Amino acid sequence: MNAVNASAVKKVLIVGGGIGGLCAAIALRRKGIAVDLIELKAEWTVYGVGIIQQSNVVREMAKLGVLDGYLDAAYAFEDVAIYGPGGQLLARIPGQRLAGPEYPANVGISRLALHNVLCNTALELGAKVRLGLSVETLTEQADSVSALFTDGSSGDYDLVVGADGLYSKVRSLVFGDKYTPRFTGQAVWRYNFPRAPQIDHLANFQSAEGNAGLVPLAGDLMYLFLTSHEPDNPWMDTATLAEQMRVRLQGFTGLIGELREQITDSAQVVYKPMEVVFVNEPWYRGRVLLIGDAAHATTPHLGQGAGMAIEDAVVLSEELTAGGDIAQQLQRFMARRFERCKYISESSVLAGDKEMAHDREFDRIGLVKQMLARTAEPI
Ligand SMILES: Cc1cc2nc3c(=O)[nH]c(=O)nc-3n(C[C@H](O)[C@H](O)[C@H](O)COP(=O)(O)OP(=O)(O)OC[C@H]3O[C@@H](n4cnc5c(N)ncnc54)[C@H](O)[C@@H]3O)c2cc1C
Repeated sequence: MNAVNASAVKKVLIVGGGIGGLCAAIALRRKGIAVDLIELKAEWTVYGVGIIQQSNVVREMAKLGVLDGYLDAAYAFEDVAIYGPGGQLLARIPGQRLAGPEYPANVGISRLALHNVLCNTALELGAKVRLGLSVETLTEQADSVSALFTDGSSGDYDLVVGADGLYSKVRSLVFGDKYTPRFTGQAVWRYNFPRAPQIDHLANFQSAEGNAGLVPLAGDLMYLFLTSHEPDNPWMDTATLAEQMRVRLQGFTGLIGELREQITDSAQVVYKPMEVVFVNEPWYRGRVLLIGDAAHATTPHLGQGAGMAIEDAVVLSEELTAGGDIAQQLQRFMARRFERCKYISESSVLAGDKEMAHDREFDRIGLVKQMLARTAEPI
C-alpha cells in the first residue's frame, strides 16, 4: 500500500451521503485522507426495499473492509436465473465468487441495512459528517477548492467529490445545465414479501409487457420488482398503487401470479419512474469530481447502478494515493471508470428500450452474461 503522505490530496469534501458518498468516505479514510461529508437530508434515512449487489460489488466490499458486517446484514446467494412469464426456466447463470472462495457470489440486502453498515463504518473511521445542508458555491483556488455551505459555513479542500445523485447540485455547479436527467419511458414497481423458500437466488421473469423479478434480502424477506412502460410519465394516485401494480402483473402466472394477488397495501408499493443521465466527458473540472449517479445514473435493468458508484469510490481512493499530481490522478481515475460505466449505462437503457419495443429477438440472457463477464474483469 502507498504511504499516505505520498498523496497530494489530504482533505476531501464529499457532497452526498448515499451509497457512493459513504463508500468514498470509507475508502478515503482507509488511506488516511481526511473526509468531511455533507448530506442534504436532515434525517439520514433511506427508503424501503432492497438492492441487488453482484459479484463485482462483493469484491469491492472486501476491498472496503466491510465484508463481514455487510454479509451479516445481507442474504448471500449464488445464481441468477431467468424464467418465462409462467416460471419456465430459460437460463441459470452460475455466480462467480470474485471476493474469494469463502465468500458468496452475489448478495441481496435491504437499503436500510446497507446504509447502516456503510454509515457506521464511515463514522468509526473518522469521517466528519454534517446533515441537513448542501454546497452553495465552489470556488477553485490555486491549490484547493473553497466551499461555501448553505448554512453559511465554509471550508477549503484539496478535492470535492460530488456524490449527490441524479439531481446533483455539484454537477450543476460544474457543468451548468449541460446534463439533465431524462425519463426513459419506464417505471419500476417494488413490493416486499416474506421470502418464498425457492427464492434462494435472483429470479428474473420475462414477459412481453415487462420484466419482473424476485430478490432475496434476508432469511424471511424478499422483494418483487416489475418494470413497466409508462408513456409520458403519468402522475400516479398513491392510493391506487397496489391495484395498478396488480394490473401490470397480469401477464405473469406461477409464483409471480400468486404473489400479485397479495399486493393489497398501496402504502407499501414503491413506485419510481426511471431517469438517467450520463456525463459524456471527464467527470471533473479542476479539483471537483462527480461519482456515482451524479455522473452516470442509469436504469436498474442490470442491477449495477450502485455497483458502479461503489467501484468509483474504491478506484478513486487507489488513484489518489498512487502518486502524481491531482490532474494525473483524476485522469487515471477516468481511464479506469469511463468506458466501464458507459457500457453499464448504455446496456441498461438498451434493455429497457427493447422491453418497450416488445422486441422478442432481443437476447437479454446474452446481455446479462456479457455484463457479468465484463464486470468480473479487474477494474
Ligand atoms: C428502482 C431502482 C432500483 C435499483 N436497483 C439497483 C440494484 O439492484 N443494484 C444496484 O447496484 N443499483 C440499483 N439501483 C441504482 C442505485 O440505487 C444507484 O445507482 C445508487 O443509489 C447511486 O448511489 P449514489 O450514492 O451515487 O446516489 P444516491 O443514492 O442518489 O445518493 C445521493 C445522496 O446525496 C444526497 N444529496 C442529494 N442532493 C444533495 C445536495 N445538494 N447536497 C448534499 N447531499 C445531497 C441525497 O440525499 C443522497 O443521500 C437502482 C435504482 C433504482 C431507481
